[in-house]
Amino acid sequence: MNELIHLTLIIVALADSIITVRGQDFGYEGEEGPEHWGQKYEHCVGKHQSPINIDEHNVEEVVMLPLLYENFETESILSATNNGHTVQLRFESSDAPSVTGGPLLGEYQFAQMHFHWGANDEEGSENKINNQSFPMELHLLFYSSSYGSVKEASEHPDGLCVMAFLYRKSLEDNPNYVELITLLPQVNDAGHSVTLEKPITLNKLLPENRKFYYTYGGSLTTPPCTEVVTWIEFKDTIPLSHEQLETFRHLRTANSVLVRNFRPPQNLHGRIIRTNKDAVCNDAAFKNPWQNNQNQQRCRL
Ligand SMILES: [Zn+2]
Repeated sequence: MNELIHLTLIIVALADSIITVRGQDFGYEGEEGPEHWGQKYEHCVGKHQSPINIDEHNVEEVVMLPLLYENFETESILSATNNGHTVQLRFESSDAPSVTGGPLLGEYQFAQMHFHWGANDEEGSENKINNQSFPMELHLLFYSSSYGSVKEASEHPDGLCVMAFLYRKSLEDNPNYVELITLLPQVNDAGHSVTLEKPITLNKLLPENRKFYYTYGGSLTTPPCTEVVTWIEFKDTIPLSHEQLETFRHLRTANSVLVRNFRPPQNLHGRIIRTNKDAVCNDAAFKNPWQNNQNQQRCRL
């Protein structure tokens, strides 16, 4: 009997580890490629999928409250990990970076950030603007403070927010990226992590102008492709030199080069993409436009 209990525990433990790796068994080409994701993950063939192509001439201009950034100055990025699909930057801080305002109802807490890139400078971004690709795209994943974790938030339609930034090729190296890119060769192999000697702030890796963006309702761009994401795709781009972009292309998956880790644009299925115009707020309301309804009314929408 004891043996039976023991065996049951082993089976439960095995099943648990299978669930934990669910969402990891996908790739970007062949049998594991995006066109096959729907066979294992039903949400990947849903009608609110990401990424998309943003046609600038077919967006709705709306006045929105300003986006407010908290703790983007805190030195919080601690480690970089090659998980076989991307490089993921994680943080640890008692003052978690967060964002409010814009299209978001309530506060969203920063969870992790990662990149998508191509095999050359002509491709790499997931979202496209007027069918144009960019050489890389950065995703910052946030979850609603109404929920306790990314996992819990993933079960609610307003659970997640991705702030996305596109890169453009520049002639000069971007000095703000030197520290991070110098560490990348240490995580060339899948499964490897490196701890940063001096943590980096989110602000350092992002463009200064984060005022204007496109926004739409979509999904995670990797399995399980859950449709719970408010996308905020910024118009200002981040410069990186060809050499800096190349460093990402030396990373490896478990068995090949880690390049072209981007999903192609998905059908809009009638979704509306919005872009923001400035709202004019008085000072008190600007500091916390979502604090109460009165504050929102103090902004001239
Ligand atoms: Zn992503």
